[in-house]
Amino acid sequence: MGVYARAPLAFERGEGVRLFTTEGEAYLDCMAGIAVTALGHSHPKLVQALKDQGEKLWHTSNIFKIPQQETLAALLTETTFADVVFFTNSGAEAIECAIKTARKHHWANGHPERIDIVGFDGSFHGRTIAAIFAANNPTYVEGFGPPPPGFVGAKFGDVEGLKKLVGPTTAAILLEPVQGEGGARSWTEAQLKEIRQLCDETGTLLIYDEIQCGLGRTGKLFAYEWADGAANPDIMAVAKALGGGFPVGACLATIDAAKGMTPGSHGSTYGGNPLAMAVGLASVEELVKPELMEHVREVAGYFTQQLSGLKDRYPDVVVDIRGKGLLIGIKLATPNREFMQHARDEKLLIAGGGDNCVRLLPPLVISIEEASEAISKLERACETARAKAKAAA
Ligand SMILES: *Cc1c(COP(=O)(O)O)cnc(C)c1O
Repeated sequence: MGVYARAPLAFERGEGVRLFTTEGEAYLDCMAGIAVTALGHSHPKLVQALKDQGEKLWHTSNIFKIPQQETLAALLTETTFADVVFFTNSGAEAIECAIKTARKHHWANGHPERIDIVGFDGSFHGRTIAAIFAANNPTYVEGFGPPPPGFVGAKFGDVEGLKKLVGPTTAAILLEPVQGEGGARSWTEAQLKEIRQLCDETGTLLIYDEIQCGLGRTGKLFAYEWADGAANPDIMAVAKALGGGFPVGACLATIDAAKGMTPGSHGSTYGGNPLAMAVGLASVEELVKPELMEHVREVAGYFTQQLSGLKDRYPDVVVDIRGKGLLIGIKLATPNREFMQHARDEKLLIAGGGDNCVRLLPPLVISIEEASEAISKLERACETARAKAKAAA
């Protein structure tokens, strides 16, 4: 189907932060397949895990015990707020599971009327019917029929407004601690704490979508950790970096939030199969290393400093630098799609974003030298954008 506006580029090989086209040209990858290849391309441990498991067993069924799934679930629950995990094949499915878990929780508590999921403008939760209406981005819902009941839209950043929307039919509040597609917009820790409090007072469940901002992207294993335990979720969707490129997602929850998820209430054919779990486990074992998080914070600091320099030198091109860790948004004065092309002309891959942003989402393993190379390429892209704007004026 013609749903993608594709760039005329095809890659056949990747190594670390580099991608090589079928013509053998090297690109510096600062989008990582939209925050997926967090450990870089062809990470030896992930390649080995895939090969080893690929020769043993790919798939059985969730009607049997899957030891690799139990190991990865144990690792995820030991390192997060969660007690239980459900594995999926994508982010959108993790969101579906989160929404179902929240509604079923209230149903099990004798409150079947609590079905409303409160979401925010600028959000992105995936492309299933529930996920598009939870985010309510006009471009993504257009033509896909009337909104199903139980989705309420709130304004990003407006906690007072949110308080007025939470009522007797609210099941959960769903948000990205740092919005990805929306243009790297971050909730403050104070706001998240206030929302957590609101949830506690009203018996509302708090769902975080950390599909993009989680698993080390912000310099902590999960973005919610920046609030030091004062804004933990009840349910959390993860995916993207979880498999480092192998399709795998997960819905994490506390045992109480998941009380309605009893045998038969949910399932997946592929979700959590041995092949996906072997790669996911290898990936998470790397991502939980404290030295990697330290590295992310260091490179992120370098990027922020260098990018604010660019903003000073090109105020006619760069309007704002935002985001957290290595989820970086650059808000532009010139069209973001054109800027992505200028970057590609410099052999640098970056992602687009809402609010006329471009996003830098490099592999977390990117070195300071490689980050400096990215900055030089961005500087030349700014120069091109400036020249183009001048010629048009
Ligand atoms: C990518 C993404 C999703 C959807 O994940 P898919 O694997 O494409 O279904 C949901 N939420 C956020 C924040 C994302 O970045």
